[in-house]
Amino acid sequence: MFLSVGVRFEANVEALNMVETAGNYGKHRRVPYLVEEDGRLKTVYVPAISGESLAHAYQEHLVREALSIGLPVCDDCQRGEFYKSMNKVHLEKKVSPIPEDPRAIEEAIVKACVVEDVGGFLYAEKPPVRRTSAFQVSYALPVKSVALFATSEPQLHARHAQMDASSKKGNASEQMIYYVETGTALYGFTFNLDLDAVGVSAITSKPIIDENEIKKRREASLKALFRMLSSSQFGAKLSRFFPVGGIRELVVVVTEHPFVVTSPIYDDYIEKTKKRLEVLNGLGEETFLAVADGEKVPEEALKEVIDYLHGKGAF
Ligand SMILES: [Zn+2]
Repeated sequence: MFLSVGVRFEANVEALNMVETAGNYGKHRRVPYLVEEDGRLKTVYVPAISGESLAHAYQEHLVREALSIGLPVCDDCQRGEFYKSMNKVHLEKKVSPIPEDPRAIEEAIVKACVVEDVGGFLYAEKPPVRRTSAFQVSYALPVKSVALFATSEPQLHARHAQMDASSKKGNASEQMIYYVETGTALYGFTFNLDLDAVGVSAITSKPIIDENEIKKRREASLKALFRMLSSSQFGAKLSRFFPVGGIRELVVVVTEHPFVVTSPIYDDYIEKTKKRLEVLNGLGEETFLAVADGEKVPEEALKEVIDYLHGKGAF
């Protein structure tokens, strides 16, 4: 089964994704964006949050959910350092001596770590072994119709240190000023999760772990997503720039085979998604849709999906 989520969230004065610090200036990630104004297309630079940043947060939630139900997570991933068995040094912590057969390497890694099972890995040695991530996430980008109102603006902050004349060296300042570029926008992003890929070999397409554990891992990967959305625990600088706002709309779709919701950067994404699903239904595919667009809160829609998948025996 395949799950696809479209999320629209409003974030005011956020610093969720900073790309570089030049001197005392921390710069927000920005991307070129094609928008239509007065019937003409133009490029604007808008604040954005990278898929890498969202994926990192998701995997941190996955660590927590997995451990809470007694599933294995390797030491590196437990620390939030997602090296993912990239070389011999990291792989040896899971399996020693390292097997020569790529299938045995994949099996050892998947058995030892839920994050690398769900989030994939690249073992870049001889033989190289690659496992594609079972989840996919887009950048979070401003909703098209209001993208021109999206802004990023530096905010001035100051840190003070108390210094008496004796401790003051050279022209060290008692006050340090710094700028943090903050973004404000109505963002949209897409998250997909291929539940059929969890616990299954990317090389042989056969299950690596038993059915019962596969179900537990699916449940953990779903709950990690729901927790991430519900708690808004993603992105950087949350301690002082926790975004003001929250989820405005959300649509979740479950299909038998891969299907991705229409991107929430478009205003008609819910209607379009429904229409597209009708076509699938007409072709005999069973689908499930949950929408939170005002009357329903996001958690209610997410719970409906959990119940549906439960009923379907996915976990
Ligand atoms: Zn790991």
